[in-house]
Amino acid sequence: MTLKVSIDPRDNCIADMVCVSLCGDVFEMSDVDGKSQIIAKWRTDPNTINVGQVPDDMKDCAEAAQQSCPTSIIHVEPA
Ligand code: SF4
Repeated sequence: MTLKVSIDPRDNCIADMVCVSLCGDVFEMSDVDGKSQIIAKWRTDPNTINVGQVPDDMKDCAEAAQQSCPTSIIHVEPA
């Protein structure tokens, strides 16, 4: 089983790094614009930085980030 994780709309990210603090195996901060993105190895499309597919064992941390994101732009759903 895998999970789809997305950051959408990514433009609303306020770059407070909450998701990276809670789930640094899935999220990282972009060197380009300073906003959150999905770590490259999880991206379903290498050019789409805000969507990824992660293993089920990352469910807890991904959902912790989802619940704590202050702008509610992180989404976790069955892939
Ligand atoms: S928790 Fe939300 S607002 Fe904060 S850096 Fe992550 S995606 Fe952006």
